[in-house]
Amino acid sequence: MKPLIVANWKLNPSSQKEVKHLFGAIKKNAKNKNVEVVICPPFVYLPMLRGMVLGAQNVFWEDKGAFTGEVSVPMLKDLKIAYVILGHSERRQYFHETDELVNKKIKKALAAGLVPIFCIGETAEENQAGQKSQVLERQITEGLKGISKEKAKNVAIAYEPVWAIGTGKNCSANETMSAALLIRKIIAGIYGRELADNIKILYGGSVNSANASMYIKESGVNGFLVGGSSLIADEFIGIIKQAVDNK
Ligand code: PEP
Repeated sequence: MKPLIVANWKLNPSSQKEVKHLFGAIKKNAKNKNVEVVICPPFVYLPMLRGMVLGAQNVFWEDKGAFTGEVSVPMLKDLKIAYVILGHSERRQYFHETDELVNKKIKKALAAGLVPIFCIGETAEENQAGQKSQVLERQITEGLKGISKEKAKNVAIAYEPVWAIGTGKNCSANETMSAALLIRKIIAGIYGRELADNIKILYGGSVNSANASMYIKESGVNGFLVGGSSLIADEFIGIIKQAVDNK
């Protein structure tokens, strides 16, 4: 399976000048037929970027109408956007996105042929309370509710333990492996073994060029969702290289 490496720029950078510089530096060095690289900048920068696969960081579940401040799936399709990050923990935390709401967005994205990067993961408290399995099971079951096998095979799942995001406390290879196995088991329970074996599972949480190879070699994930390190061209290029070389 080709590794999938996704850059989540979050609310960065703050100017078109910086965006052009960062995007240019990544584009120059990221071309490799053995990997799928996706850049997810803030919405406003999507139309100005060319020459790499792009994703959005969110989308709304209605096509049009009186929904001030939202961006729709048809708008993304019109810009030839291929991927969309959904259910990110920052959206769950700061914008109160529930499993039900994430489910509506995933359905909408899939219906239009966008690939959802469906983020799941437990908080530090849930982890300490031994609730990781229940949380993942709930997020997956609710997030994929009513989605056919035919559509579900186009979803990429990003396991992002919330305590590992932006903290420098990345999840161990062992723990990531057990989470990936659990995710495949939950998916197998819903859609069967074949889909579970083939669905892409990414790891996200303080990935950098120094720890990326460990995950690819030891944890059975198929790529990464990268936040902080995707804003440093050399770091992000290093992660791509590690993923390709250690596949
Ligand atoms: C993320 O925001 O999805 C993420 C994984 O961030 P970071 O790489 O900074 O931990």
